[in-house]
Amino acid sequence: MGNESGATITGYSVETICQLNDKRIADQWGALSFPIYQSATFAHRGLGESTGFDYTRAQNPTRQQLEYVVASLEHGTDCMAFASGMAAIATVMELFSPGDHLIVDADLYGGSIRLFNEIGKKNGLTFTTGDLSSGDYRFNFQNNTKAVYLETPTNPMMNVTDIRELAEEAHKRDALVIVDNTFLSPYFQNPLDLGADIVIHSGTKFLGGHHDTIGGFVVVKDKELDERLRYIYKTTGAGLSPFDSFLILRGIRTLSVRLDRAQENAIKIAEYLKSNPHVTKVIYPGLPEHPGYKIMKKQARGFGAMLTFEVESKELVEHILRNVELIYFAESLGGTETLITYPITQTHAEVPKDLLKKNGINDRVLRLSVGIEGAEDLIADLDRVLTLPL
Ligand code: PLP
Repeated sequence: MGNESGATITGYSVETICQLNDKRIADQWGALSFPIYQSATFAHRGLGESTGFDYTRAQNPTRQQLEYVVASLEHGTDCMAFASGMAAIATVMELFSPGDHLIVDADLYGGSIRLFNEIGKKNGLTFTTGDLSSGDYRFNFQNNTKAVYLETPTNPMMNVTDIRELAEEAHKRDALVIVDNTFLSPYFQNPLDLGADIVIHSGTKFLGGHHDTIGGFVVVKDKELDERLRYIYKTTGAGLSPFDSFLILRGIRTLSVRLDRAQENAIKIAEYLKSNPHVTKVIYPGLPEHPGYKIMKKQARGFGAMLTFEVESKELVEHILRNVELIYFAESLGGTETLITYPITQTHAEVPKDLLKKNGINDRVLRLSVGIEGAEDLIADLDRVLTLPL
């Protein structure tokens, strides 16, 4: 295995890291599928003789195996696995104290916006919201700015921010850079390599990959930050269960092949949508005309499998959502099946109306999480529903 002394695997490709087990806690019988250690507590051999595992809220072998793989995939030194992506984000917010200020992207997953607006503000934090992809964040720093929070590409409008440039600016002001890397996954992008301090994932999405588990991750590379987060982690107790850890570990085994196929499909679907006269806009960062295309080429290894498009009328939206057959009308993303989501009533239902408008999320915007079915079947499903019956 790569790095015997450290906590992560180095020296292997991302495809290989997805297959490795942690020798430090390897199963004595040689099981290739990492066992589910369904135990709340662990026995001590004697006073001061812990096996390294005391109580599952703090550590669990199955979860540790998962954390080891995700930390390695994200080029971090440690990872914490959570019961959901939102639990991961809420834990990171515990780093901040009343009076602290954060700069946050205007276009984010709706649940993150709700967390900042409803719970962050109640806890005395202040936020400045802006389109970070435009570089405007430069004018938003204050003396009390402690962090910049972003997704790139954003959910759902697929705005792309240059992470390296933003990190340079933020670090001049001692602000942390927190990147939610859910949309691309570590297969396509590693924000820590680009200067980010904290990477967050909804593990529910591409890492889990099968729409069967909720989970989340926080990955760091700095020891002090890691200690602070681990302390909050064990204190607040939102760790992922052993069974769900097993499921996400299993999902990760096929991360690379799933994402290669899903991306291939996404490119074909983006091209198809562009050619359909009832589609008024296609937003996919793998299209050369996307404003973030060049930055994506520079900072990521792929464009992902998420795309957003706008159709000519709300009636057509209703028709599409009622009549897709192969594609599921459902929220979430990142699994093997293709999902179509209506952000305005689903993922972004609670985002303030003026912010939705500013971000361009209207009642004609749809989001696709492209799966690994045959591209021709997906295109046929879309083609069938993209015209209103006469
Ligand atoms: N981050 C992004 C980009 C998401 O899309 C989501 C959920 O859709 C989350 C975070 C929250 O993750 P979870 O649903 O696992 O709590």
